[in-house]
This record gives sequence, C-alpha cells and structure tokens, in this order.
Amino acid sequence: MTERIELLRKKVLELYRYLDQDQKNLIACTAGCRVCCDTEAFNIEATVLEFLPLATHLIKTNQLEWIDLIERATDDDRCVLFQPNAELKPEGGCLFHEFRPLVCRLFGASFTFRKNQRQILACRLLRNRIQGFVDLLPNAEQYHTRLLSIDFFLSRDVYGVNTALRKAIEYVGLYYTPKYPTLGTKSA
Ligand code: SF4
Repeated sequence: MTERIELLRKKVLELYRYLDQDQKNLIACTAGCRVCCDTEAFNIEATVLEFLPLATHLIKTNQLEWIDLIERATDDDRCVLFQPNAELKPEGGCLFHEFRPLVCRLFGASFTFRKNQRQILACRLLRNRIQGFVDLLPNAEQYHTRLLSIDFFLSRDVYGVNTALRKAIEYVGLYYTPKYPTLGTKSA
C-alpha cells in the first residue's frame, strides 16, 4: 500500500470515529431497518474519498467478486452493498456497514442549515423521534468541510453511491498496479 493511500485511509477512518463519538448517545435506527438504502443509487450521493477505506479493504483482501460487481453496477441500481433480504442479514441492509461512506453515517443523526434554520437530515421514520434533540446533533456541513480538508480533489465532486465506490476502487487500484519485474543484465 502506498503511503499516500494509507494516510488518506487513516484520516477518513479517524473522521468516522470522531462522528461515531458525536452520535453515540443519540437515537439510532431501529435494528435491522433498511428503508433508506432501498432506493436507486443516484438518490444517495457520495464522494470518492468517503469510500477510500472500503476500496482499500476490498483491494487489499483481493475481493475480486466484489470489485467485479461494483464495476458493473450503475446508479440506476440499488447500492451495490445493499442486501434487501432481512433473512440473509437480519442486523441491517449494509453488507459493509463498518466501511459505509460519510453520507450514510450523517443521514439519520445530523443537521444542516437551510435558510438559517437547522434542518434534520433523517428519514421519515426517525425525523419525528429526534426533533427534540436537534441541538445535540452533529453539523453535517462541518463534517463535509473536514472531509474536504483531508483531500479536496477526492471530495469536491459527488456521484451516485455506486459510481463513487467504483471511482474509489479505480483510484486505489492505480496505486496497486503490479510492477513489472526488473530485467536482470544478462552475463555473457
Ligand atoms: S453504503 Fe451501506 S448504508 Fe450506504 S446506501 Fe449502501 S447499503 Fe446503505
């Protein structure tokens, strides 16, 4: 792994850990709920940088089936990481929950400012339940700014979630291109 990718990966994971702390005492999604992921990928927008930890994990662990699946997915499909069948994954729909992108972490327990008003970023199931806790919610814009400060060029553009993951894999893959063995000098 190159130093650059490793550094970016660590910084993004650090940001996620920080957000986990910020959200730790808030109302969480109901166990096993998968409603907000059950939509076309173009409805969930992420940046390449948000997916860098997952892309690195998939490449490092040589998960070629996943990489192939992601390469073929479009944003008209569901998120490629989404498992709709609760019997196959009762604890929730995200198959790589530990590595989910920032957008999925913020949605459900954060706020943004619209017309100088705090607006909760949450699904219809959670919105009413967290209405009384708006002051405790993390500010989504601050997290986006922190993401930009990690790497501006990998976090300024947003894509549908499948495209963002594919681009992250392609980006990390550039650094993993196998090197050709150096040709030894033939002795006479
Ligand atoms: S990355 Fe995981 S949490 Fe986010 S939309 Fe896809 S399945 Fe859902």
